[in-house]
Amino acid sequence: MDCLQQPSGSFQQPTGDQLPPLEWIDSHAHLQGKPYAQDLIEVLAHSRATGVHTMLLPGTDLADSQTAVDLALRHPGQGLVVSVGVHPHDAKSLTPDGLSQLRELVLQHRSHPVVAIGEIGLDYHYDFSPRDVQRDVFRAQLELAQELDLPVIVHDREATADCLSVIAEVAAKRPLREIPGVFHCYSGSVETAVILLKMGFYLGFDGPITFKNARKALEVIASCPHDRLVLETDSPYLTPVPHRGHRNTPEYIPLIGAKVAEIWGCDLAEVAVQTTANARKLFGLS
Ligand SMILES: [Zn+2]
Repeated sequence: MDCLQQPSGSFQQPTGDQLPPLEWIDSHAHLQGKPYAQDLIEVLAHSRATGVHTMLLPGTDLADSQTAVDLALRHPGQGLVVSVGVHPHDAKSLTPDGLSQLRELVLQHRSHPVVAIGEIGLDYHYDFSPRDVQRDVFRAQLELAQELDLPVIVHDREATADCLSVIAEVAAKRPLREIPGVFHCYSGSVETAVILLKMGFYLGFDGPITFKNARKALEVIASCPHDRLVLETDSPYLTPVPHRGHRNTPEYIPLIGAKVAEIWGCDLAEVAVQTTANARKLFGLS
């Protein structure tokens, strides 16, 4: 989508009586976690009132994925969709039997509410699971996503070279789907972004782009094709300015969108329309 050449920077949504809020999608929010156990209904209501009508809950292990599925099924009509998967932190917990259960979970709930495999990937910052185990589990889940023809949500922290080589290994056996998935909370270089975009991946951006010290991500956003960027909060983590230090929620998505509008030099409404369309296409949402 072309941008109007008028810098916006404004965080304001249209709030006039006749104007409905802009529509947004939070493509990554861990709402099935404990921080929302007491007030999830309010969080969902506030998010929807802000225009965030669809929220994707990523699983981090088998039990968490099942919890996310149950939550989405318990709250129909709330715009909750789910990705199931085992995070690199928990890679050591995935047994062959667990992988079969993950497959079963998708087959039972495909399309509604399961729309992706994730979050999966490699995290060499914390190394909570041995690196060779992380690679094996990442590879197995990439293959599962290929088998089931679903996009993946990739978590890559300080492991880009190995992420790319595991993906290349899997792709050598069977070509990746046209939209292989998204690199969530993208924090890599412009050069790596070019490689990922060429492979068909989308890039996800979160609250840290609103932080004062953000630099690299802003360059990536400036050069990212507008039809390949999605917004995510990673709730309850990575709360954007000016709420930093508090629990994150999907209702802050417009704050992240406003930063993207500022970088792209376009209207907030265009970022809402474009990123919503992007998330819909990426996850096959209607
Ligand atoms: Zn996450």
